[in-house]
Amino acid sequence: MPEDAMADVAIVGAGPAGLCLAVELAAMGLTVSVVDRAPYTALAEPGDDGREIALTHTSRRQLAWAGIWQRIDERSAAPIREARLYNGDGDTPQAMTLAGAERSPSQTIGQLVPNRVIRRAAFEAALADSRITLITGQGVSALETSPSARILRLEDGRRLAARLVVAADGRMSATRRMAGLPAHLEDTGRKVLVCRMAHERPHSELTWSWFGYERALALLPLNGQTSSVVMTLTPAEAERLESLDVDSFSATVSGFYHHCLGDMQRVGEVHSYPLWVGYAQRLVAERLALIGDAAIGLHPATAHGFNVGLASVHRLSREISMAHRRGRDIGSPAVLSAYERAHRRAIRPLWLASQAIVSLYGDARPPARVLRQAALGLASQVGPLRWGLEHYLLRDAR
Ligand SMILES: Cc1cc2nc3c(=O)[nH]c(=O)nc-3n(C[C@H](O)[C@H](O)[C@H](O)COP(=O)(O)OP(=O)(O)OC[C@H]3O[C@@H](n4cnc5c(N)ncnc54)[C@H](O)[C@@H]3O)c2cc1C
Repeated sequence: MPEDAMADVAIVGAGPAGLCLAVELAAMGLTVSVVDRAPYTALAEPGDDGREIALTHTSRRQLAWAGIWQRIDERSAAPIREARLYNGDGDTPQAMTLAGAERSPSQTIGQLVPNRVIRRAAFEAALADSRITLITGQGVSALETSPSARILRLEDGRRLAARLVVAADGRMSATRRMAGLPAHLEDTGRKVLVCRMAHERPHSELTWSWFGYERALALLPLNGQTSSVVMTLTPAEAERLESLDVDSFSATVSGFYHHCLGDMQRVGEVHSYPLWVGYAQRLVAERLALIGDAAIGLHPATAHGFNVGLASVHRLSREISMAHRRGRDIGSPAVLSAYERAHRRAIRPLWLASQAIVSLYGDARPPARVLRQAALGLASQVGPLRWGLEHYLLRDAR
């Protein structure tokens, strides 16, 4: 690439959100450069990270429209028929059913797809489009401004100019910081452990979330008699579990889940994530926009991080498309503030719900128990944890 290479849009971060946006923009005829600090092979053949992404039907349609879903082997997707949520510990926790508003003809409310499968399909789609240039193994060291462009300075000294820069570099986004956009970042003091477990009884294609007083647990139904367990734990408890051999780990986790699916046996690696959540107070700056986790990094218990990321992709590409069709500047303040207004309206209630979860569980004192029951009851009625939230997420975007 020559110095001062120029693209219509430069995206920092070739994660699922950044790649989906690249593919949607290229389909409009725009030239797009995507920069990621990860090496090429890690992006082309992502390893298993333990994450099973619960996709709503709206998200699946968006991936299909971008030509990404067609690259996913449908055998790697597992249907979800219903989502159930339990509050409290013991054998009789209180349950709420969070069925989706939209069911497919097969009566499912969504599908679980491994994160690495989505990432690989999105990478292949980007690679197949000659309007997209992928720059891998490179971070961004500085962000500069000229009257008609934003300029990314890459770590190897190259410069890349674009009419619009999009930060899709995850919840700890360095690009967001370089642009001077403030964000509320919170280390929850918890760790998330995820792994696959085989079990004795069928899961009936139900997702289960338990908000216990000491820990939060989820079970995500995969193909066959296998589920993904997602456990939010104190660091000490997470470390204790990670130090166990497979059989002791399996027995302990079966106990956490009250043997609801009989005995469970670990069948994969355990993946561990420190649990940070984040919320950008501004989503745009001069010729720059935040999408995906760089805009909002939700608690995984909401199971909607990527769905919300795809909603940000949809909203931004809609504003860019309208400006492009009318021959207007795609990085103008009008385009960016329309995006910010629409996405901010959608994500603020999600952030408040995510924060309620963070602050209320792990606290076993009676007032917190009462508040949590009220918060989860409200969430089940109106919004963010509800599976029917696809209409909510995109109500002003279609
Ligand atoms: C345990 C767990 C379970 C989850 N389950 C679900 C679920 O069921 N449903 C759901 O919808 N969501 C879920 N999520 C959330 C979902 O995984 C994220 O919302 C999604 O991955 C965010 O995508 P992204 O592209 O915005 O960011 P990321 O996936 O974080 O990608 C960011 C990219 O930017 C690159 N990058 C970072 N910094 C730089 C830099 N300085 N320069 C260049 N490149 C950089 C990285 O290499 C990476 O490729 C879960 C998350 C976790 C942790």
